[in-house]
Amino acid sequence: MERVPSWRYLPVALALSLPVLACAGLTWWHAQKAQREEAESAARIVRAQTQHILAQAWEVLDRVAALTAVPCEQALPDLQRWGTLNPYFRSLILLRDDRIYCSSAVGKADYSVSEFRRWSGSLSPGGWLFTVDGTPLAPERPAILLGRSGTDGHSGVVVVDGRYVQDLLNAVATLRDYRIELQVGEGGAPIRSDSQGPWDAPSSLVYSETTNHDGRAPLIVRVKAPPEDLVQAWQQLMLTYLPAAALLGLGLAVGAYRLQANRRSFKELLRRAMRADEFQVHYQPIYGQATGQCEGVEALMRWQRPGVGYVRPDIFIAAAEEDGMIIALTRHLFALIERDMRSWTTPPGFHVGINIAAEHLSSPELVPDIERFVQNVSARQPVVVLEITERSLITDDGQARRNIDALRAQGVLVAIDDFGTGHCSLSYLQQFPVDYLKIDQGFVHAIQPSGEDAPVLDVIITLGHRLGLAVLAEGVETELQFNYLVRRGVALIQGYLFARPMPSEQFLHWYAGHAPPPGAKRPESSNLGAG
Ligand code: C2E
Ligand code: CA
Ligand code: CA
Repeated sequence: MERVPSWRYLPVALALSLPVLACAGLTWWHAQKAQREEAESAARIVRAQTQHILAQAWEVLDRVAALTAVPCEQALPDLQRWGTLNPYFRSLILLRDDRIYCSSAVGKADYSVSEFRRWSGSLSPGGWLFTVDGTPLAPERPAILLGRSGTDGHSGVVVVDGRYVQDLLNAVATLRDYRIELQVGEGGAPIRSDSQGPWDAPSSLVYSETTNHDGRAPLIVRVKAPPEDLVQAWQQLMLTYLPAAALLGLGLAVGAYRLQANRRSFKELLRRAMRADEFQVHYQPIYGQATGQCEGVEALMRWQRPGVGYVRPDIFIAAAEEDGMIIALTRHLFALIERDMRSWTTPPGFHVGINIAAEHLSSPELVPDIERFVQNVSARQPVVVLEITERSLITDDGQARRNIDALRAQGVLVAIDDFGTGHCSLSYLQQFPVDYLKIDQGFVHAIQPSGEDAPVLDVIITLGHRLGLAVLAEGVETELQFNYLVRRGVALIQGYLFARPMPSEQFLHWYAGHAPPPGAKRPESSNLGAG
């Protein structure tokens, strides 16, 4: 029993782990996305509500600024009315230079504006806006200050109580353990939600946005969440999807294992079939136009599995190629042909065509294999023809070319099989010394009963002749096709019209009936049908 290298289990391991890893990755990505989206909608609520408050403040500020040239006693009733009517305002203030001279909260006053905590920012005449930690009236409560210059160094200020904003932040923060920070204007002190313990507790920024919709000052909202939130959300998703992913991985792993086991068992099956002599070779005669006789055969492998039936050669050959068994199988074919040929009566120079797979052609073992075969059938002195495909020429790294050169030097011929169906460029044809072109049956079947030309077929035939190669047409089934090809000088014809592939014994009978007496003339085409 063949030992299985450990890397062979890699596909199984991958099949098992990939769905789980993909699930972990996808759920992590999904948890992050969901967290971001939730934080975004929390920020949206904060932004919309703050903008709503600020819009009212700007409106009142216009009116306050218009009062700045008026003495405090005269302005006060208006200030107090506007201040009381709007629940968001802490006070409405009038300033002269940097001194406060009138306030809706305390009436006439005289103190420096610097008493506002963290008073910062430049006072541009158009209007200004920023957040502060506290005001002289309520040093511990943040506020948003909006100001606008009036006449003669006077200006008006609306102090929006930060409590409302803070309550809003707290309410939104409870949605998801958030810490939310709102900053109005550059350089101001941010207003922060305070319901979730100390602000500096470990948390990571989930979402941050800066809006500047009215062109006055940016509104910055930052949403933070404890790092474990994301992990918890991810775990939740994993709990939901992991069982399915694990099940999928398990299914795939079982599939991969079975596939491998099948492959191993296919190899084993082939080996056993060879030992049990389940393979047979069928020989399909090839008609030579010049002599009007059977000038050779193509050896085609057949597999009759006991209890199962006939396995199509294109299927088991392709599988053997894939599983690295084709060289062993071709060696077995040589042995079968050697055995069959012992009873043959073919003359020296009779062609025996053998299909050689790409892997074998580019293997250093090809030359000794063929030499041994030629040696073992030397009693009949056949001409061995290697049928190779265009693909094996294209994939050549030099070894195929060396093999072809060495074998041709010993009298072995080389035919390009299924010519026209691969991707062989014409340069390969010039580069590789070959003897035959075997035109694929597809082109032969393109010959129309109406007698019209088959242009591609014609070009291939002409090409072969121009390159000095013998041309063989495969799959010739009708006299019409036969005559068409003969008219165009195709030297060799293979197909059901002349003969079907047959086992060695049957071929011997057939050959005895078809080998014309010495000196006989070429048969009429109508005598070709062998059925
Ligand atoms: P291929 O080399 O092109 O072989 C010719 C195929 O055409 C054979 O199919 C043959 O039976 C079929 N054929 C011959 N005359 C006619 C005809 O007049 N009409 C039609 N429709 N078909 C015709 P088969 O035997 O089924 O073989 C299929 C393929 O399997 C072969 O194609 C060849 O590529 C591969 N194969 C068969 N035996 C071997 C082998 O021992 N070694 C390798 N490497 N490949 C083989
Ligand atoms: Ca062939
Ligand atoms: Ca062919």
